[in-house]
Formats: sequence, C-alpha cells, structure tokens
Amino acid sequence: MFICSKCGKCCTMMKYLQQSLPEEFADFRELAKELDSGDGICRYLDREARLCRIYESRPLLCNNALFFEQRLKDLMTREEFDKILNFSCKTIRSDEILQ
Ligand code: SF4
Ligand code: SF4
Repeated sequence: MFICSKCGKCCTMMKYLQQSLPEEFADFRELAKELDSGDGICRYLDREARLCRIYESRPLLCNNALFFEQRLKDLMTREEFDKILNFSCKTIRSDEILQ
C-alpha cells in the first residue's frame, strides 16, 4: 500500500520529470513541461499550503490510481507499483533527487 503524506515535494520536480521520464512516457514529459512554471514547480501547486489547487481534476501523471489503471496494469501488479511509489517517494523526500 502507498500513502502520500502530501508534502508537495514531487510537485516541485517538473524539470526532473522532463529530463528523466523514458521514451514510452514522452507525453508525460510534455505535460511536465506545460505544468512547469519556470522554476520546476508546478503552476498548480499552492506554494504556501503545499497542496494541489486542481486536485480533483489533476492530470494522469499525478493520479496514481488512474495512471495504474490506464497505463500500467498490464505491465505489473498494483503491489509492484506501490513498491515503486514507496521507493520513489522516499528518495524524493530524502533529497537524493536534485532538481
Ligand atoms: S513526495 Fe511523496 S509524500 Fe510528498 S507529495 Fe510526493 S508522493 Fe506525496
Ligand atoms: S497538477 Fe497538482 S498534483 Fe500534479 S504536479 Fe501540479 S500541483 Fe502537483
């Protein structure tokens, strides 16, 4: 199981996503570019509250459940995806990924 504690850190990584997403997710690289407000922080992040201002209609890139259903469920189990999410989240929060 993966539970996001809503720190907002991954919403500040639009530049990293543009550079690191693999070719099969080229559409997400483009989306990250569109979301980037210029400094790598998503234009929809409330910088004070550290919360998404369009959470209910956030894009597929940011919606783990929908992303799994639409793009990943034929490639891996939900448990495997949760392991990836937990690892990624921990790495992001530990500042091992620099923008
Ligand atoms: S870094 Fe992890 S806890 Fe923070 S917003 Fe992203 S998924 Fe949630
Ligand atoms: S759309 Fe919302 S959840 Fe997605 S990166 Fe921007 S602020 Fe974060």
